[in-house]
Amino acid sequence: MKSLVFAANWKMNQAPADAALFMRTFLGQYTRQNDRRVLFFPPAVSLHAVVEAIHDRADLQAGVQNIHWEDSGAFTGELSAGLARGAGARYVLIGHSERRHLFGETEADTAKKVAAAVRAGLTPLICVGETLPQREAGETLAIIRRQLHAALEGQDAGVVASVLVAYEPVWAIGTGRTATPPDAAEAHAALKAELRELGGGERSGAVPVLYGGSVNRSNVAGLLAVDDVDGVLVGGASLDAEQWLAIARS
Ligand code: PEP
Repeated sequence: MKSLVFAANWKMNQAPADAALFMRTFLGQYTRQNDRRVLFFPPAVSLHAVVEAIHDRADLQAGVQNIHWEDSGAFTGELSAGLARGAGARYVLIGHSERRHLFGETEADTAKKVAAAVRAGLTPLICVGETLPQREAGETLAIIRRQLHAALEGQDAGVVASVLVAYEPVWAIGTGRTATPPDAAEAHAALKAELRELGGGERSGAVPVLYGGSVNRSNVAGLLAVDDVDGVLVGGASLDAEQWLAIARS
């Protein structure tokens, strides 16, 4: 049986009071399921509300959506991995397409952020994905393997085996379009092969690879049925507690 991961990326939504209300609704109806973890990535200001709500639930964890690569210092407006860890985060999204494409995050930046996360004891959830022109040019597998390789550059096998990965085609994020199950299967198999190569063995081949891009309650089951899809990373559909419940229970 697969060990599944359901991750909610709230992006720049859910103020602390909204996050607390969401968590009350969710916790009131979601009972622990041994085959899965549910992760919440609220905006940093709402992390405390989520951490407080889930404090006694080992199957639920919180993370931040971004970190700086330095451990501390004069970086006004930035958040270090250590500060996030101190506030209760256990995970961090790294290389989300909105960071790459809207904020100019480079592959070298993702490597520095992975290293910073590991130093502080945060688990990186590394996001990779191709743009539509890259897909149309037949470059999908080369691009996602390169992004994954770059993010894990210089890391030892233990770190490679400890991360999470999300395949998120850029053209599917927030657009209502999803990869077909065969397309997801091909991309996930390539990422698993790359992980095995990077980590030099079976442990790294067992790293969960999530699918992300317009996942909702109607299409989630079809995606989870794909062999190498170990969970989902969800933006828009994770903002509504009832829809997120339906997804996390699927
Ligand atoms: C995301 O932000 O990671 C994402 C997949 O968004 P959406 O589900 O809205 O496409």
